[in-house]
Amino acid sequence: MLKIENLHATVVDKPILKGLSLSINAGEIHAIMGPNGAGKSTLSYILGGRPGYEVTEGSATFDGQDLLDMDPHERAAAGLFLGFQYPVEIPGVSNVQFLRESLNAQRKARGLEPLSGGDFLKLAREKAGLLKMDMDMLKRPVNVGFSGGEKKRNEMVQMGILDPKLAILDETDSGLDIDALRTVGDGINSIMRRPDKAVLLITHYQRLLDYVQPDFVHVLAAGRIVKSGGPELARELEAHGYAEIAA
Ligand code: ADP
Ligand code: MG
Ligand code: MG
Repeated sequence: MLKIENLHATVVDKPILKGLSLSINAGEIHAIMGPNGAGKSTLSYILGGRPGYEVTEGSATFDGQDLLDMDPHERAAAGLFLGFQYPVEIPGVSNVQFLRESLNAQRKARGLEPLSGGDFLKLAREKAGLLKMDMDMLKRPVNVGFSGGEKKRNEMVQMGILDPKLAILDETDSGLDIDALRTVGDGINSIMRRPDKAVLLITHYQRLLDYVQPDFVHVLAAGRIVKSGGPELARELEAHGYAEIAA
């Protein structure tokens, strides 16, 4: 589904990714762990097509298409979802408006009819319920005044509604208390753990991986994958830290 080969990327002319390769098949959940500043968020921005992040070498394909050649909205329409480490606030636009427009734009790009207001609200109610999110919150402006945990849960509601093929989730567990962590973990499992979908979880901690069990764990250090393994690698990292393993 996702094939990244020898990816090099710069941010404001500073090299951040330095030859990163990674393949993700449908049905798989991968976790990327790594020290601060390793380039984890940069990787997610590059895959999402954020301006200012420049690829200088290498390739990334999504379902065989050249991902790096697509506009951000084309990537989303193709089924890519990015969960941000720091979700943005959009004053003046309610979650419901934002989500309905996003979903219908994606449906249009796929040649599907827009969802009616009633059908959309039914879908939104179902996904909000899954994430234990009050419908009142969905009527408020996007993320404005939401706590850190509420923003992350809101992102998972977005993910449920947009129903992507591949979700890249950047530190979705940061700022969550224990109950919210479980709710978010259950949400990721019920929305994304399917044979035709895949997830790339970026996280500092083992704890999210207790709820969302990865098939593969990778260590990203200094812009490259320096080690890959199974779920046991995450526990090893938790016990010993990155320094030893990334050395
Ligand atoms: P991680 O998510 O692994 O903590 P990041 O991808 O956020 O790491 O950052 C990797 C490196 O790139 C860091 O050294 C960071 O300071 C730098 N960096 C990221 N974004 C910018 C930017 N907009 N301007 C300058 N440096 C940046
Ligand atoms: Mg960081
Ligand atoms: Mg980061």
